[in-house]
Amino acid sequence: MLKIGLTGGIGSGKTTIAQIFEVLGIPVYYADTAAKDLMNRDPELRNRIISAFGPEVYKEGSVDRAYLGELVFGDPEKLARLNAIVHPATLLDAAGWMQNQKTPYVIKEAALIYEAGLEKFLDYIICVTAPESLRLERVMNRDRVPAEKVLQRMQQQMDEKEKVSRCDFVIINDGKQALLPQVLAIHETLMEKAKTGL
Ligand code: ATP
Repeated sequence: MLKIGLTGGIGSGKTTIAQIFEVLGIPVYYADTAAKDLMNRDPELRNRIISAFGPEVYKEGSVDRAYLGELVFGDPEKLARLNAIVHPATLLDAAGWMQNQKTPYVIKEAALIYEAGLEKFLDYIICVTAPESLRLERVMNRDRVPAEKVLQRMQQQMDEKEKVSRCDFVIINDGKQALLPQVLAIHETLMEKAKTGL
């Protein structure tokens, strides 16, 4: 089974595109959702987060993402510390999840693949691109947050050009080019690669 990474900057449309692959019958591991879930239900992870950032991170038993986001997104050192705690846990969880799938390939959707050095665990990487102004507008509308919050998060991510130069497939989600033909072409290539073992 091939392991495929699906990445792209904030608001590029990773989740939207992952959902199209799901419609084609391809299982998707959503790293961000999984991390959130693990932070709530994995006691060891919870303890490590509390030791690093204090008990205020949990409100009524669940991680307070808004509070944690405030804490780490303006502070690269804290963000790196949080990632160093959470990434190994999601990596392990994703590996277990992948073992239970039966399709020719599976997808791991994650904003940070290159930033976290996860590409070495994946066979191919798909990168979703969209103009920065459109990404900004999408996230502001989706999350009802001001521009500066989105820009702050963009600054923590690798430049899109760099991702595009490193990845194996690119999907352009600029609101002009149709998504379905792009996804179908990649799907067919991956099914073929999975069949021939390349
Ligand atoms: P994040 O990194 O924040 O998780 P993402 O890359 O997963 O973002 P999505 O959540 O898929 O991005 O898309 C961001 C927003 O833009 C969503 O509200 C989504 O519905 C919208 N969107 C994405 N692609 C398109 C498109 N082609 N046309 C219209 N709206 C779109």
